[in-house]
Amino acid sequence: MSKVNLSLPAVQIREIRINSITGFQGGAAELVSCARRGIKDNPRSFTQCVGCASSKAACMTILVQDGAVISHGPVGCSSCYHEFAFTYRVNSPLRGVETPTQRKIYSTNLTERDTVYGGNGKLANAIREVYERARPKAIFVLTTCAAGIIGDDVESVCDEAEAELGIPVAAIFCEGFRSSVWTTGFDAGYHGIARKLIKPPRKRRDDLINVINFWGSDVFKDWFAPFGAKPNYITPYSTVESLARSSEAAATVQACSTLGSYLGAVLEQEFGVPELPTAPPYGVAQTDRWFRALGKLLGKEAAAEQVIAEKKAEYLPKIAAVRERIRAIKPDGELTAYVTGGAAHGHALLSVLGELEIKAAGAAIFHHDPLFDNGEPDSDQLAQRVKDYGDVPNFNVCNKQEFELVNVLNRLRPDLLLARHGGMTLWGAKLGIPSLLIGDEHYAMGYEGLVKYGERILETLENDEFVKNLERHAVNPYTDWWLRQKPNTFLTRKENRACAAV
Ligand code: SF4
Repeated sequence: MSKVNLSLPAVQIREIRINSITGFQGGAAELVSCARRGIKDNPRSFTQCVGCASSKAACMTILVQDGAVISHGPVGCSSCYHEFAFTYRVNSPLRGVETPTQRKIYSTNLTERDTVYGGNGKLANAIREVYERARPKAIFVLTTCAAGIIGDDVESVCDEAEAELGIPVAAIFCEGFRSSVWTTGFDAGYHGIARKLIKPPRKRRDDLINVINFWGSDVFKDWFAPFGAKPNYITPYSTVESLARSSEAAATVQACSTLGSYLGAVLEQEFGVPELPTAPPYGVAQTDRWFRALGKLLGKEAAAEQVIAEKKAEYLPKIAAVRERIRAIKPDGELTAYVTGGAAHGHALLSVLGELEIKAAGAAIFHHDPLFDNGEPDSDQLAQRVKDYGDVPNFNVCNKQEFELVNVLNRLRPDLLLARHGGMTLWGAKLGIPSLLIGDEHYAMGYEGLVKYGERILETLENDEFVKNLERHAVNPYTDWWLRQKPNTFLTRKENRACAAV
């Protein structure tokens, strides 16, 4: 049954809507098989840190080019939002935005007094002032724990402001305490956008394909050209108008299925835009499947076969050459790598390792969605990885608990660490492990991506002097006691059983 209900102000949280979990240690194949039988979370009795859903909602709204964002809460809740202004500026060349505009980010700065007397009036005044100062085409109001606890009627304030100002004013319910899976914040942002910005389609456009993504390079433009289409990137670098017309696209594809799971389902179920029913194109086998699925969805199977044939003729020899050079780095043994990243993209990097014939020693992935909102097993990137390249041992679903990451890295001592988030590679580097962070999530996509990513892996492995020096001088903040414990010490169940049925 569909869990999409745009008549409700708030989206249903992930752990209830699609049964997502944040705790598991075992093998990837076991986790994948549990998705079919019902999965069971394994909570921690100790947690070092967690993320906040409001920053995920901020990430998807701040980067809308002509919008403004108001955090309704204490000013500290928005203290990390400036990172997205930085991201917007530095990644704008990847999207051809020549003069990136200033991001418009505000806070209602709720104080102790406001938590006693209520913050509705302050929010209403803030929306008016932001409109006067920034003249945005839409305003996104992000809720915080304080606003949720005192019960401010954010929805009504936004609706009244919308009627007064004549622009969409979207209330986005993303309080950090609402969900233990912080990616619920992405869903909350999309829910608000779908309710207030996306308009019913006037017609279907064969030349437009939605790409739900972060801020990766514009690889889809070239890939869609043989199909007579161009990408409509959602939401970073989109505009209020391009979001409004996303309902008219011929299809929606995901750059990271965990990111766009909810919006893909909304666009399909509420606006009739079909979602590509397969995981994003990482690794040769999945890239083949992705282009074939795209051709089938668009009714252009011949174009898909031609793209596959041409690209494989060009890139398979280059992939083989990179593989050979990687193998030569450790001629007498198997090169091993550990991956840390969010779900879906972390799984994608495991496929890249499989394709380059680097043994996956393990992974720390921030949460796990057994099945996405489309209910489509073929969208499960981890399942594709296991099917194409085999199981991944030491697979840890771990919401950025760095104490577990350090424990595991210290035990496994892989030859390489791959990460997608800032702050994670330093742990590999301190242990003398060459560590690679690439923030462009499109970098390893497709056949050509395997060559590019393989080259970066080679650079990282061949230039290990810095991390070897760092290891000699770094102080590990974790005690010997902790490093001797098993990494699953603080998981409630010590046995590796994820299936609810067992
Ligand atoms: S968890 Fe709550 S209090 Fe903390 S930053 Fe997020 S919204 Fe603010």
